[in-house]
Amino acid sequence: MPDRSSTRPTTSVLDGDQDGVSGAAIDLVAVTKAYPGQGAPAVDSISLQVPAGEVVMLVGPSGCGKTTTLKMINRLIEPTSGTITIGGRDVLSLDGDELRRQIGYVIQAGGLFPHMSVATNVGLVPGMLGWDKRRTSERVDELLELVGLDPRRYRDRYPRELSGGQQQRVGVARALAADPPVLLMDEPFGAVDPITRQRLQDELLRIQDELRKTIVCVTHDFDEAVKLGDRIVVLGEGARVVQYDTPAEVLSHPADSFVSDFVGSGASLKALTLVRVDDLDGLQETTTARVGEPVADIAARARAAGDAAAVVLDGRGRPLRWVWVRQLEEEGAAVGDREDDLPTVDRRSTLNDALDAMLGSSYGGVVVTGRRDVYEGVLFIQTAIDAVQAARVADQERSAPVAGNDERSAQVLQQALPEEPGTEAGAA
Ligand code: ADP
Ligand code: MG
Repeated sequence: MPDRSSTRPTTSVLDGDQDGVSGAAIDLVAVTKAYPGQGAPAVDSISLQVPAGEVVMLVGPSGCGKTTTLKMINRLIEPTSGTITIGGRDVLSLDGDELRRQIGYVIQAGGLFPHMSVATNVGLVPGMLGWDKRRTSERVDELLELVGLDPRRYRDRYPRELSGGQQQRVGVARALAADPPVLLMDEPFGAVDPITRQRLQDELLRIQDELRKTIVCVTHDFDEAVKLGDRIVVLGEGARVVQYDTPAEVLSHPADSFVSDFVGSGASLKALTLVRVDDLDGLQETTTARVGEPVADIAARARAAGDAAAVVLDGRGRPLRWVWVRQLEEEGAAVGDREDDLPTVDRRSTLNDALDAMLGSSYGGVVVTGRRDVYEGVLFIQTAIDAVQAARVADQERSAPVAGNDERSAQVLQQALPEEPGTEAGAA
């Protein structure tokens, strides 16, 4: 965990204040934006409270005022009327440039400056805040690590030398550079392919787990809203708040037909996205080994533990390979080398994504990682199936329809099940 005291800007105008939460609450009261020469306001008196440290997703049809709402928070667009406070401070009373240096802003394709290196892009705001070169440079490396890019490889590259997903990672690193309490994101993953998008979403969840910023994120993808949001705001024309609720509530109790249309068909299947690997509580330990360790030692340890396989970790505890004990015995003297298709998921990944990864794996399971991609355990497909079936049984035994949060997700999961989950999943 980075030492925040060393990276927080000295002239902070915004601050998070709760233990473990670096984010600050955002409060919009009757905020309106009427563009000149347009009939109805683009944003018509929106009121919204975003709790500190939460991810709130703004969804709604194109042109309903999502971007306008977001840009009023950092005053890239000035509201016509209403008040916006961050951490209790009225943003309209602050200098706009100073405000924006303390609010991370991420847009599609990263919004990087093409003529600047990765390091220069990421270090822009610290530079503007007057940090010295060395401190900025250390912060750049720390952030590139955080978003999963090796600083030695990437700090001197130019945006055009990066894939879309890598550019987006740099965009996130840049937005986090001055450790802002608030992060605004406007369709951040809209320009990348579906697999990269899934990875970036997982990465954002992992980073958020660590940093607990207040994040307001615009998306037109309802599935993305369900996956990333602690809460979802469904907006109608003129940024009218049609529903503001947890993803589970929006899915199970859409406020009206506008919301159910927006949620679309297959709402119950989308609910699988609400269950995370963590919730399954079924991580298993397995034998781990270090790169370069003699094969015979690993095999002996695995056999003593009753494990058929071992996971090889690098020097920082990140998984590199999954090896069967039998395979070890056929192999040379020491283990090494990354396996390109090592199936891994973050522990905050959704059950959907985990099942995807398992189905694409020849091991009948996936390696689960936590903070900084460090190994946490393995999850076998049978555990996922058992969890699904246990939830179904628990739900059948429950007579009272009133369910708490945990129960609710079990219930939603149960509703989302295909007829014979065991058959489908077991076939792989
Ligand atoms: P969304 O992000 O939900 O697609 P926007 O906030 O971009 O919606 O736009 C809301 C409405 O305001 C749209 O009707 C759009 O045409 C209009 N609008 C957006 N920006 C401007 C602008 N700079 N000048 C005039 N009208 C604008
Ligand atoms: Mg928009």
